[in-house]
Amino acid sequence: MIAMKIGIVGLGLIGGSLGLEFVRQGHQVWGVSRQPDTCAEAISRQAVHFASTDLGSLAAVSLEMVFVCTPIPSVLPTISQLAVRLSPRATITDVASVKAPIVDAALQIWPDFIGGHPMAGTAEQGIQAAVLGLFQDRPYVITPTASTPTIAIERLQTLVTQLGSRLVLCQPAQHDQAVAWISHLPVMISASLIAACAQSADAETLRLAQQLASSGFRDTSRVGAGNPDLGVAMAQFNRDALLKTLSHYQNSLSDLIYMIEQERWAELQQRLLQTQQDRQHFMQS
Ligand code: NAP
Repeated sequence: MIAMKIGIVGLGLIGGSLGLEFVRQGHQVWGVSRQPDTCAEAISRQAVHFASTDLGSLAAVSLEMVFVCTPIPSVLPTISQLAVRLSPRATITDVASVKAPIVDAALQIWPDFIGGHPMAGTAEQGIQAAVLGLFQDRPYVITPTASTPTIAIERLQTLVTQLGSRLVLCQPAQHDQAVAWISHLPVMISASLIAACAQSADAETLRLAQQLASSGFRDTSRVGAGNPDLGVAMAQFNRDALLKTLSHYQNSLSDLIYMIEQERWAELQQRLLQTQQDRQHFMQS
């Protein structure tokens, strides 16, 4: 394996977890984060070899790959700041959960840019939440465009393979449509489930429900209890695709309400049979 010089900006759950893997693989890793305590923690956890709060610290190193792992609203501003500091041989990539609004603009700022999105996470955030193995066997989407340099694709493919992830290539807009269905919509549905339950049940019923809650509620409420800033950024940056999926979901929910109100049990049975089969098919493929 050829060791690379890698920069990571934003040492949180994703940036820290990437750092842990890359250090273990034998790469040299430089980190940048906002808070000195985070930098110190990243070094002591061996998620980076060097860390600083100053993006300028990356200028002195001839980095091959820089991962921008900040929250979504800071990704483009960070790439602009990197562009006036980095050595021109560096490829920049990001890990943001939306791609189209970032990829087009990033390519204008730094032509050697390739969008990426590791499809892995937990409900935790920050460097303390970083773990080894987070990306193992998980899809890692990369979104090269017609103008993406071959070297950028090769470098990112190499590193993604070393993470043990499953590489998936697609267009940025296709990615945003797909994650609206399987990630952003579930966050909103799960959040509205928790809100409906917490706001609508009377105190005594709520206490009883809490005692009775088991795996079904745990599974369906999990993604609605994640990082609120990330949820807002998903909605802001993937607004059109998310609204489209929410509208389909609203129609589907209205169908169910109608069937139950009208006591159309055979229709409801048919719908649930269909969703049972659809889920099996969806998960198998
Ligand atoms: P996170 O745990 O909150 O980590 C982000 C870290 O970036 C913060 O801890 C903060 O560290 C640092 N930071 C914030 N603004 C910065 C800036 N301007 N410059 C340098 N460092 C900055 O968030 P995350 O879950 O890792 O998410 C980061 C990115 O990963 C987002 O773009 C998100 O879309 C993407 N992503 C998240 C998940 C997920 O499930 N969480 C999955 C896939 C992709 P300090 O402590 O130094 O302030």
